[in-house]
Amino acid sequence: MTDQTLIDCREVNVHFGALHVLKNVNLDIRQGETVGLVGESGSGKTTLGRSILGIGPVSSGSIRYEGQEIAGRSPRERGTAGSEIQAVFQDPYTSLNPSMTIEDILIEPIVARRRQSASEARRQVRDLLDHVKLPADAAHRFPREFSGGQRQRVAIARALALSPRLIVCDEPVSALDLSTQARVLDLFIQIQQETGVAYLFVSHDLAVVRHISHRVAVMRGGEVVEFGECDQVTARPNHAYTRRLLLAAPVADPVRQAKRRAEFKAMKEG
Ligand code: ADP
Ligand code: MG
Repeated sequence: MTDQTLIDCREVNVHFGALHVLKNVNLDIRQGETVGLVGESGSGKTTLGRSILGIGPVSSGSIRYEGQEIAGRSPRERGTAGSEIQAVFQDPYTSLNPSMTIEDILIEPIVARRRQSASEARRQVRDLLDHVKLPADAAHRFPREFSGGQRQRVAIARALALSPRLIVCDEPVSALDLSTQARVLDLFIQIQQETGVAYLFVSHDLAVVRHISHRVAVMRGGEVVEFGECDQVTARPNHAYTRRLLLAAPVADPVRQAKRRAEFKAMKEG
């Protein structure tokens, strides 16, 4: 483990009753990098993200944040790691309180952590809105007044309010149309360049993960079956399952896509 390692998951297991949902998962995330976590629905991606966030159980194994054990500890029990690991989820409409203005939504985490004047907190809200490229007058509006992409920007601003070092992004663009997806992905990349925050970027969509990730982990049936540099995993995968995911991923060129579909079908049958 290098001193750049931010999160180190070792042999993590999660059981829900008789269901063995995470099986000896090993995964590390370095400072300032994006680790993409890809895999079909039900493979355990969200469960792993929730374990890292401290909002889901860990049956055994270790999760270290800068060397400190945090597995099975709630955000409150984690000290600084509790605020330095934040989340952005798929559906901001359910995660943003509809009766609060954007300003109230963003002030809440700021005031909860640091004691400061209302005017100082409002100034920070303006900075956060600026950071996610929402207009200053967004502060006095409500979540329902925004589009899906804008609401996701509010969710990103709320995650940034606590100066996180890691954001677990669980399918954060999956509910958005393609052009909005591209703009929100670019925002994630820009924020990382500006702040040095690391992402665990969870998606069932390999095209999205390939666009944003430095390294990619592939999950199947609760196991990480492949983990490596993005180029290597997405261009020269070692595991047959990754090759199948790649063939199933949409590519822009319809001719290539038809060829891929045929290859995918042959592989499934073969
Ligand atoms: P993914 O995010 O890759 O779609 P999940 O982590 O949500 O997968 O789910 C992995 C497996 O764990 C699924 O079989 C799911 O039904 C099960 N699971 C997830 N959360 C719970 C829970 N709280 N109780 C029981 N089973 C769960
Ligand atoms: Mg999920």
